[in-house]
Amino acid sequence: MSRKPIVAVVGRPNVGKSTFFNRIAGRRISIVEDTPGVTRDRVYAECEWLRYNFTLIDTGGIEPSSTDVILSQMRDQAQIAIDTADVIIYLCDGKYSYTSADEEIAQMLRVSKKPVVLVLNKIDVYNKPSHFYDYYNLGLGEPLMISSVNAMGLGDLLDEVVKLFPEDILLEEEEDAIKICFIGKPNVGKSSMVNKIIGENRVIVSDIAGTTRDAVDTPFTYKDQKFVLIDTAGIRRKSKVNESIEKYSVLRALAAIERSDVCFLMIDAVEGVTDQDKKVAGYAHEAGKAIVIVVNKWDLLEKDNHTFNDFTKKVREELAYMTYAPVVFVSALTGQRVTQLLEQAVYVANNHALRISTGVLNDILNEAMALNQPPSDKGKRLKIYYATQCGVKPPTFVLFVNVKELAHFSYVRYIENQIRKNFNYEGTPIVFKVKQRG
Ligand code: GDP
Ligand code: GDP
Repeated sequence: MSRKPIVAVVGRPNVGKSTFFNRIAGRRISIVEDTPGVTRDRVYAECEWLRYNFTLIDTGGIEPSSTDVILSQMRDQAQIAIDTADVIIYLCDGKYSYTSADEEIAQMLRVSKKPVVLVLNKIDVYNKPSHFYDYYNLGLGEPLMISSVNAMGLGDLLDEVVKLFPEDILLEEEEDAIKICFIGKPNVGKSSMVNKIIGENRVIVSDIAGTTRDAVDTPFTYKDQKFVLIDTAGIRRKSKVNESIEKYSVLRALAAIERSDVCFLMIDAVEGVTDQDKKVAGYAHEAGKAIVIVVNKWDLLEKDNHTFNDFTKKVREELAYMTYAPVVFVSALTGQRVTQLLEQAVYVANNHALRISTGVLNDILNEAMALNQPPSDKGKRLKIYYATQCGVKPPTFVLFVNVKELAHFSYVRYIENQIRKNFNYEGTPIVFKVKQRG
C-alpha cells in the first residue's frame, strides 16, 4: 500500500501558522472521538487536495517566552520537520522582510535537502511588497504569497506542495517487507529494543546506499521474512530535538506510525499506561495499523503469580478500544521474549491483511442478526442487506443497510465482535462503512 505523504508547517511565532493550518485542514484530527480516557490533541490534520491525501503537521504551538528561546524552539521545529516530513512549508510574515532567525532556519532546511516551499503570509492585498525580493536571499527559491485570513493563494500553494511529493511513496509498491515501528514516550526503551533486535545475530541488516530515507529506516531479514524498522536511525542516534517537549515525541511517533504496517506500542512496566501512551495509541488505532502492546522493563517488577494478569487487566482497561491488540511482556535489557516480537509482527501483519469471502461473511452476518435482532427506532427496524470486505490493512467492511441512522455504534460493534469470533483479526483494528441502499 502506498502511504500518505506528510507536510510540515514551520515558522516563527505569530507568522500565522495556526491560522494557515485551520484554513487548510478540513478536519483537525483529535483522537478517537468516542473513546473515553483519550486526550484530545491537535497536532495534525488529514487533508485532501486534487487527488492527493496527505497529513499536515503543525510543528509550532509551543509558546516561547523570550527571543533566544524562540530560536532554539525553531531549530527543534525545523529538525522535526526535516526528520518526519516529505515536504516542508516555511511560513514567513510577508508584512516584513526576513529576520536573522529566518536566515538560520532557512540554512538548516537547505542543508537537509528536503523539498521546501517558502511562503509569505499576510499578503492580504495582492501586491508584491518591496521586500519581496529580499526573500530570494534565503536560497529557498521564489516565495509564494498568501493570505491565510482572506484565504488567498492557498490553491496555488497546495498545487506546489503536491508537485513535490516524492514519487516512490505515491506509487503502489508491491512490498513483501513488513514495516514496523516502535512508538512510545521518551525513555521507555525504544532504542534499547531496536538495538537488541538489530544486535541479534540471526538478524541480517541489509547494506544499502545512504539516501535520506534509507538512513532513517533499517531493512533486515529474519527467518526468511523481510522487515523494515521505521525511523530507527532517528531512534538510535538519539534525536537532537528536545524530546522532553512531549509534542515533539508525539509528532515523531505520528510520522513513524504513518509509514508502518505494524506498531509496537511500548509501555513502561514501572509506570503503567500514561496519558501520553494513550495519545500515541490513539494515533496508531486511528491510522488503522496492526498493533502489539509491548510492556518493556518487565525485569524491574517484583512479580508474584498475579502480576501478569493484573497488569494485563490494567492495560485492557486503559486502552479499552484496542482489546484486539496482543500484549507482550519483555525486557530490552535482559532480552526476555524479545525474539517473540518479530514473530508477533508477522502474526499481526497477516491478520491485518486477511480477506474473507463475501459468502462466508454474509453467513456470519445472517447468523448474527438471527441471534440478536437489529435495533429499531420509531417502528422502523434496521435491515442489513449484505456486507462485503472492501479492503485490507486495515480490514474494511461495507454494510449495506435500509436506514443509515439506525445502524448504531453498539450494533456495529456487535457485528464486529461476531466477525472477530469467527476469524482471526487479532492485532488489527477493523473499520466499518455503512451505506444506505434505497
Ligand atoms: P502562529 O503563532 O504562527 O500560529 O500565528 P497565528 O496563526 O496565531 O497568527 C498570528 C496573528 O497573525 C494573528 O493575529 C492572526 O490573525 C494574524 N494573521 C494570520 N494570518 C494572517 C493573514 O493572512 N493576514 C493578516 N493580516 N493577519 C494574519
Ligand atoms: P528511548 O528513549 O525510548 O529510546 O529509551 P532508551 O532505550 O534510551 O532507554 C531508556 C533507559 O531505560 C536506558 O537507561 C535503558 O538502559 C533503560 N532500559 C531500556 N529497556 C530496559 C529494560 O527492559 N529494563 C531495564 N531495567 N531498563 C531498560
